[in-house]
Amino acid sequence: MDFELTDENKMFREAIRNFGEKEVAPLVEESEETNIFPKQLFKKAADQGFLCPRYPVEMGGGGGDKITECIMVEELNRVNPGIASSLMAQSGLATQPIYNYGSEKQKQDFLIPAIHGDKVGAFGLTEPNAGSDAASIKTRAVRDGDSYVINGTKIFITNGPFCDYVIVAAYTDPAKRGVGINLFIVEKGTPGFTVARKLDKVGNRSIETGELVFEDCRVPAENMIGEKEGGGFAQIAETLLSGRITYGARCTGVAQAALELTVQYAKERVQFGKPIIKFQANRFKLAEMATNVDVMRTYTYRVAWMYSAGKDVRTEGPMVKLFTAELLQKILSDAMQIHGGYGYMMEYPIQRFWRDGRLFTITEGTSEIQRLVIAKQLGY
Ligand SMILES: Cc1cc2nc3c(=O)[nH]c(=O)nc-3n(C[C@H](O)[C@H](O)[C@H](O)COP(=O)(O)OP(=O)(O)OC[C@H]3O[C@@H](n4cnc5c(N)ncnc54)[C@H](O)[C@@H]3O)c2cc1C
Repeated sequence: MDFELTDENKMFREAIRNFGEKEVAPLVEESEETNIFPKQLFKKAADQGFLCPRYPVEMGGGGGDKITECIMVEELNRVNPGIASSLMAQSGLATQPIYNYGSEKQKQDFLIPAIHGDKVGAFGLTEPNAGSDAASIKTRAVRDGDSYVINGTKIFITNGPFCDYVIVAAYTDPAKRGVGINLFIVEKGTPGFTVARKLDKVGNRSIETGELVFEDCRVPAENMIGEKEGGGFAQIAETLLSGRITYGARCTGVAQAALELTVQYAKERVQFGKPIIKFQANRFKLAEMATNVDVMRTYTYRVAWMYSAGKDVRTEGPMVKLFTAELLQKILSDAMQIHGGYGYMMEYPIQRFWRDGRLFTITEGTSEIQRLVIAKQLGY
């Protein structure tokens, strides 16, 4: 058993950390303020192999594995979870279904430009009345000659307001609950596809999140991912499973940032004549935070390694998401407590991580849904 990262992994971490600090950090304040994502980052990250580190080099990717992707996600979330999330969507949800199940033409037209940062993708599953219960989506895709006509609404879609294409989940056969779903690639500019609104969020303000409407939106039949009608739910499940592991790295990155900020603050803040880090109550909290960050990272890497080795992670994937997202809430709460009143002020960065990290027990499958899946997997 070897728990060491490879030399390649370590070099990659150093390079992505450098990228995060030099290229991402200077853009954070403006992006958070304006709620506009700095789009130049897609190309910049892609040029250095950081946008889609897991796809083959021949396609323009980094040629790495799931651990490589986790390192990228952790380091970017340590800088800014919102910006990290937009880039993560590109390396996962918005490309993986095409990589795994797409046609050669779909790969040429969408996947490869996305890996190169030339096109931005989004993934549209959630609807106003269908979140956790994804099989109850109402969006329909009806075959008409060489096309499908799509009608429906998608909500909370990351990168939706400016994406070049969106992968849309729609029923081709609504009589078959879950099984009758397919994924379709819908390009920006297709008549009938509109961004109804950009959503105003409590946190992760540097992500642009949208509500997308499809009204008699006609797409070529060749834009359906997969060769036959039905089976899209399995494609979605596979994509979400991979994302649950990535989420462990997302939570670890935010936890690491919270720990670093809190240690720094506790060393500087003086009360009762000494830095507050000298008080046992605070030292104990920080010791526990550091322990938890290490366990989160180690567990995430373990499951990422299992995934890359082709092992079945249908139980461990949701375990990673549940464990790291829940533990992060405690870490953020302790970090805020140690910051005292200043932590509650917008001028201190800890509040942003607290707001951003609150999302993580909700999105990409709530903690309750992870528990349901784990219990089912274990036969409870
Ligand atoms: C910022 C942001 C970005 C997002 N990005 C995307 C994206 O890019 N693409 C996309 O498709 N979606 C996206 N989502 C949607 C996200 O995945 C959903 O919000 C999430 O799956 C939960 O669905 P919901 O919000 O409808 O909550 P609901 O399903 O309405 O759940 C509400 C509450 O009830 C609980 N609950 C529901 N069912 C059960 C049950 N059976 N047992 C126990 N408890 C239950 C839930 O755990 C939750 O606590 C995003 C959401 C946000 C907020």
